[in-house]
Amino acid sequence: MPAALYLVATPIGNLEDITVRALRILKEEVDRIACEDTRHSRKLLDHYGISKPLVSFHEHNERERGDELLHALRAGERIAVISDAGTPLISDPGYRLVAAAAAEGIPVVPLPGPSAILTALCASGLPTDSFVFGGFLPPKQIQRRKTLEAWSASPATLVFYEAPHRIREALADIDTVLGSRPVVLARELTKMHEEFLRGTAAELRAGLHSANTRGEMVILIGRGEATMHDDRPIPQAVADAIASGMERMDAIKHVARQRGLSKRDVYQAVTGS
Ligand code: SAM
Repeated sequence: MPAALYLVATPIGNLEDITVRALRILKEEVDRIACEDTRHSRKLLDHYGISKPLVSFHEHNERERGDELLHALRAGERIAVISDAGTPLISDPGYRLVAAAAAEGIPVVPLPGPSAILTALCASGLPTDSFVFGGFLPPKQIQRRKTLEAWSASPATLVFYEAPHRIREALADIDTVLGSRPVVLARELTKMHEEFLRGTAAELRAGLHSANTRGEMVILIGRGEATMHDDRPIPQAVADAIASGMERMDAIKHVARQRGLSKRDVYQAVTGS
C-alpha cells in the first residue's frame, strides 16, 4: 500500500463517537499513530484494542516531529494523525505537516468525525446557515476585545473556543463589545454533564457558579439585532459604547464597523467637524 497521511477524528468526550472507518484505519491500515499526548490517546486505543506504535506530536515539537513524520511518509509509511479530542488540526497541531505532504504529492486522507464546533453549533439554537469560527479567544483583554470588535459586524453566528478559567472575563468583554446578543455556552459536549446555557452575555455571567465554570466550553454568539437594524443616531451609539466601558476611539471604530462607515465619518458625526 502506498504512503498516506490520514487525519482521523476521535471523540470529544463520549468514546462511542468514533466511526467504523476510523477504527479500521487505525487498527489495520497505518504503521504509526501521531498523537498529542500518548497516555491520553492510549486509553482510547486500548478501549478499541488498537495497539499501533504511538509517537507524540504536539504544539511544542510540531516542527521537528513533523519533519520526521514527513521523512517517514517519503519512505512509504502510512501515518495517522489524531489529537486529544475531535478533529486534528482544528485548534490542534498538524497544519504544516499536511501542507508539506500535499506539496510533495503524498495523499492526505481526512476521516471526518466529531468536532466541538459543529457539535455545539447544531444544538445551540442559533442560526446555522452562516457561521464564523474564530479559534480560541485571546487570553489578554485588549486582544480579546479587538477580536470581538473585528467580528462585530459579521452577519454570521460567531463560534469561539474558551478555557473555563477565563469564561467570566470573556463574557464581560462580549457584553461590553457586542451588547445584548443571544449567547450560548456549550459545556462538556457528549459527556455526562453536557449542558447548554443560553442568554445574553450579562445574564450568563450572572448565572455562573463554580459547577458550571468547569470543563470544556464553546461560546457561540448570535448575530446582533443592532448589527442589522441600529437606528440610534451615530453620536448616541458612540456614547452608549463609551458608557459600556470602551475608550472613545475604540467606540468610534466599533460604531464605524457596525454601520459600514469609515472612522472619519463617525468621528465627524460625533464632533461635528
Ligand atoms: N480539535 C478539537 C475539535 O475538533 O473540536 C478542538 C481542540 S481545542 C485544543 C480544545 C477546545 O475545544 C476546548 O478548549 C474547548 O473549547 C473545545 N472542546 C473540545 N471538546 C469539547 C467538549 N466536549 N465540550 C465543549 N467544548 C469542547
